[in-house]
Amino acid sequence: MSFYKQISVIALFFTIQILFFIPNYNNLFIITLKGLVSGGLVVVLFSYAFPGLLKNYTKRKNNLTEKRNNKEKNDYKIIDKKYKTLLSQIQEGIISTNNNYATGIYIYDQSSTEYTLKSSSDDCFANTLNGQNALFSDIISNNQSQIYNKKENDYNGWDELIDKANWTGSESLMGFPIRYQSNVIGALVVYIEHFSNMNTQDQSIINSLVNILNQGIVDIEESEVAIRSQINSNRIKDLFKDFDPESDLDTFFKSIKNVCRAIFKYDKLTISFASDKIDQLKVMVVDGFDEDADVGISYDCRNSILGLSFIDNKTIHYTDWRKEFPEMNRFDADSEDFIEFSTILSSPLREDGRSIGNISFERMGQYSFSDKEIEMLNMLSENVSKILGWIDIHQELNRSASRDGLTGLLNHKTFLSRFEKEITRSSRFDHQLGLIFFDIDKFKLVNDNYGHLYGDYVLEEVSRIISKNVRSIDIVGRYGGEEFSVLLVNTDINDCIPLAEKIVKKIAKKTYLKDGIAVNLTISAGMAGFPLHSDNIETLIAKADKAMYQTKQIGGNGVTIAE
Ligand code: GH3
Ligand code: MG
Ligand code: MG
Repeated sequence: MSFYKQISVIALFFTIQILFFIPNYNNLFIITLKGLVSGGLVVVLFSYAFPGLLKNYTKRKNNLTEKRNNKEKNDYKIIDKKYKTLLSQIQEGIISTNNNYATGIYIYDQSSTEYTLKSSSDDCFANTLNGQNALFSDIISNNQSQIYNKKENDYNGWDELIDKANWTGSESLMGFPIRYQSNVIGALVVYIEHFSNMNTQDQSIINSLVNILNQGIVDIEESEVAIRSQINSNRIKDLFKDFDPESDLDTFFKSIKNVCRAIFKYDKLTISFASDKIDQLKVMVVDGFDEDADVGISYDCRNSILGLSFIDNKTIHYTDWRKEFPEMNRFDADSEDFIEFSTILSSPLREDGRSIGNISFERMGQYSFSDKEIEMLNMLSENVSKILGWIDIHQELNRSASRDGLTGLLNHKTFLSRFEKEITRSSRFDHQLGLIFFDIDKFKLVNDNYGHLYGDYVLEEVSRIISKNVRSIDIVGRYGGEEFSVLLVNTDINDCIPLAEKIVKKIAKKTYLKDGIAVNLTISAGMAGFPLHSDNIETLIAKADKAMYQTKQIGGNGVTIAE
């Protein structure tokens, strides 16, 4: 703190002390002094209550959800503290004007339709007041502060406000409306036991303190809006950070819904994507009202307000869209209309700049969305678009990294890693596994006689037969050139035998026909079971392979079970 600031604060402190102890003289000097004190308090208030408020909030310290939530709570706690500090400083200012005063600050609570005591210098004030309290109704309806004497204005509100059994009639009250922007949101009251202790000139000093209070509320509110917007944009950014590429789309949609709930106020959320059919959008996510269009329905987007941002590839915002587009429907022309939805904010989802769907918020009645909400929606759809693109790339990469290019079956490496996972899972749940190795008999001859391309075609056909004859939970891989591996999940070895035999028979029965060339061939199979033959992956593979060679040795086209 600089030297001058120190001196000023000390001077202010002593002046307040003097004002406390001198009697209530109302000469010009004292009034000027009181004015100076209240001015000094303004400076102190601003330098302590709002020192670079936002500095603390823009720093994102970590990306862990728990820590993030704690930070959010802390941010709001700081706001709350600032608010309380502001109220108590105003109160102290009033008491320093006259220590016979008791003050209470009440704010109207719309949900309970009551006035709630937010701060008070004395416990004579009631914690809540009915929204109809006659004294308060009078204070609120007047633009100016008012002085009430119990004797003259015997409103029934006195009893509710002040906890006092016997009224003498000499009690007085000053009432000051508290404003937030142009609305009255509450009142500050100053109670005096005896009117002779009141100085009417104090009214103007307290008025200026209430003005500081009004301004302070606006400042705090603005900080809160800024913090909220910071928190919301972090929430949207975290969608990307927290997204697990291994998780499915449903989980992703759920997290979008949660983000939307936290940030936006809406009666209905609809997220749609372009479907295979031209001009059709398919609803993938819905929140709120779902009697009109639920997840899974498709609608023609051409004359639909919910399709407009997709068609125009830009954000739209209307509070009364029917007035702008009388020919349009919400969804299809034949879908049931709920005319209450007249406000819409909708933004396209894009892939390489092209629109592929949209996110829409609707409100019943004409309640426009704020600029902040529009900004947040644009940010949200941009991020969701990025993630969707990422999912596509990830799935494509994943697919090519884990699958064999010719047959589409799992490649050698991926088959082994899935095998390992299944062994762990089966050990835990006491399940059995069946491993079958297949090797095409004399495949080299196919290549030699009809060429490599023909060989490729045969490999594709054989892999198709194998995949078609196992369950979707079973795991099929291309283990090597003309070798295939199948893992039958949760299956007894005795149930594996007929399945392996069925596959061997189907392959032998088929005539492979391409470019006028017809070929018949056979395959050899060998089997080993977990845990019957071993609980070790290498041993199981070696045993199944050996069994397959035993089949070859007796002429192929059959199944052998490991010893
Ligand atoms: P056996 O009955 O003992 O299994 O004899 P085989 O001819 O089937 O076995 P061998 O191991 O001698 O030959 C396998 C052949 O498979 C050799 C290789 O050129 C061929 N092959 C491996 N991968 C591919 C492929 O992707 N496409 C084609 N067309 N041929 C392949
Ligand atoms: Mg082979
Ligand atoms: Mg072979």
